[in-house]
Amino acid sequence: MTTTHTHALLLRSNDFGESDRILHLLTPETGRVTVIAKGARRSVKRFGGNLDFFNHLRIQIEQRRPTSMARLELAKLERTFHGLREHPGRFALGCYVLEALDRLAPEGGARVERERLFHFGLAALDWIDGGTPDRRMRVLLELRTLDAVGLRPELARCVRCASALGPADGPLVPFRVGDGGPVCAACRSPEDQGLPIHLGTLRALQSSLGFELSALARIGLSGNALGEAEGLLRRFLRFHVGLELRSEAFLTQLTLREPEGKLRPPEARP
Ligand SMILES: [Zn+2]
Repeated sequence: MTTTHTHALLLRSNDFGESDRILHLLTPETGRVTVIAKGARRSVKRFGGNLDFFNHLRIQIEQRRPTSMARLELAKLERTFHGLREHPGRFALGCYVLEALDRLAPEGGARVERERLFHFGLAALDWIDGGTPDRRMRVLLELRTLDAVGLRPELARCVRCASALGPADGPLVPFRVGDGGPVCAACRSPEDQGLPIHLGTLRALQSSLGFELSALARIGLSGNALGEAEGLLRRFLRFHVGLELRSEAFLTQLTLREPEGKLRPPEARP
């Protein structure tokens, strides 16, 4: 039997049988892992009511046989991100991050990659918890989430010749959604259709990748650039991720309504 002590974020939870729950967790030790929490449905006391979304947990899991599902033995609360439960916009963004990690995070991988992904999850929840959940936060968060799971678009270089984009390639650059990036002036053919994006928008998105999440307030992204960035990410996600995240529709409903202040309470949890 192998016992693992580690930290965890709950990504998804399903009832199992009369009294158990199947939990999909993200941990720095194992990456994405599925465990069974015996008695979690029948008794809240069993895990102290800690098995909830937006909780940073310290856990103990036991693997009795290599082929059997690991069992959750202990779950202690390290931190709860209260702000995500109190505001529908934050809640939707938090659900988006957890769902994206659940569905897109690579399985296994090197230890350093698993740790990086877990710390991204924590940093993202922390950022949302203390931030303003608006369209700008959503775009930057979507890009960072794609980056974290290894699926981000190319923003700085031509997807055909890999040369860095410069002023001669702008001001509008065709972004080839299918190829995952922009095409420089030299590689462009007359029939080269793409999503037209201003070079400045691509540069703002590229530079946002170099900042800690907590420092992203420094990235200027508003008006036309924000609309372009939203269009680019929406199309990129549809084409390359190939699935629509359930929280995406909810998020759209919220972020589009936000200027009018008509926030709806969430209807679905991840
Ligand atoms: Zn090129």
